[in-house]
Amino acid sequence: MEAFVYNSNPARVMFGSGSSKQLPDELKRINKSKPLLLSTPQQISQAEDVGKILNGQFAGLFSDATMHTPTDVTERACAYANSTGADSVVSIGGGSTIGLGKAISTRTGLYHITLPTTYAGSEVTPILGETAEGRKETRSDTSILPGTVIYDVDLTLTLPVSLTATSGVNAIAHAVEALYAQNGNPIINLLAQEGVRALAASLAQLIKDPHSKEARTSAQYGAWLCGTCLGNVGMSLHHKLCHTLGGSFNLPHAETHTIVLPHALAYNAPKIPDALKKLADVLPDSNGDAVHGLNVLLGKLNVKRGLKELGMKEEDIDKAADIAVSKPYWNPRKVERDAVRELIRRAWAGEDAK
Ligand code: NAD
Repeated sequence: MEAFVYNSNPARVMFGSGSSKQLPDELKRINKSKPLLLSTPQQISQAEDVGKILNGQFAGLFSDATMHTPTDVTERACAYANSTGADSVVSIGGGSTIGLGKAISTRTGLYHITLPTTYAGSEVTPILGETAEGRKETRSDTSILPGTVIYDVDLTLTLPVSLTATSGVNAIAHAVEALYAQNGNPIINLLAQEGVRALAASLAQLIKDPHSKEARTSAQYGAWLCGTCLGNVGMSLHHKLCHTLGGSFNLPHAETHTIVLPHALAYNAPKIPDALKKLADVLPDSNGDAVHGLNVLLGKLNVKRGLKELGMKEEDIDKAADIAVSKPYWNPRKVERDAVRELIRRAWAGEDAK
């Protein structure tokens, strides 16, 4: 075994069906009594259900959480938190709502409890991407990490099937890049492999039976492990590309990750034999070939395979390639403009990953 450095973020995680009912006790434990609830407009009723668990004992509900965490929304939310005398924040939702919770918490110091409802993994990372004047900037700081995560599978039962599939693959992408991270280590590899194993099996099941609590539980467990990988080791080409595509062309987060992942993996394949083997070992029907295994999984999930299906224009391929190589970062294989352009073109057209 090679020498390594292991760094890990603190995490307080409450996991299991019905665990959101422990929210009042958790607030008592941290000596707080007036949380501000956060949601998107689409998840107001779920946030109201959480309000009922609190017997109405909360400062208010701010339901304008928005994709990419625009700073003007955060400023409005902070002002509302201040006007209501909130002493903590409780985010109920996916990466967008959790992003708002992080943005408020890091500005105000309010304790952040989060109840995730997708598989994006933001709840266990110290990372925050915020948008101001059309530009998304990402930073990482321990003050951003939520204090408590309550994984109540019951809150995921309403996640639409298509988002279940793509959000799950978004989680798998964290584990894939963790397996070849520059600062990777054997502990994170274990989490990555177990996360992919749990998600690959449960997502295939959820496509057929979206209400299976057992499969939802396993998917949420996998998402937690994969999110932990994202929070603890560096990501490379795949995440940088998705960040560029999402931010510059306003493409949906989870769907973009789903389309790009096999292409990014195939690009890096010549340089990452160990990671490919570890991945192939946990992907069903891979026959020892991780890219093939990923394609088999995506085939089962009936997901979109071309960025053009998400509305990206062909003339944007060159622009995306330019942006993707404009800021240098570590990647197992050198990031070369022509090869990256070809990767993006294949992903745009929905061709096989090579
Ligand atoms: P999202 O939070 O934007 O949710 C997508 C839609 O699904 C929203 O309308 C939401 O209300 C709805 N939804 C979510 N859960 C639901 C449920 N259980 N039932 C019904 N509807 C539900 O999607 P996401 O993919 O979770 O998050 C994407 C955002 O999170 C992006 O901005 C991305 O950059 C960010 N993100 C950040 C990190 C990080 O570590 N900082 C990690 C992953 C994602």
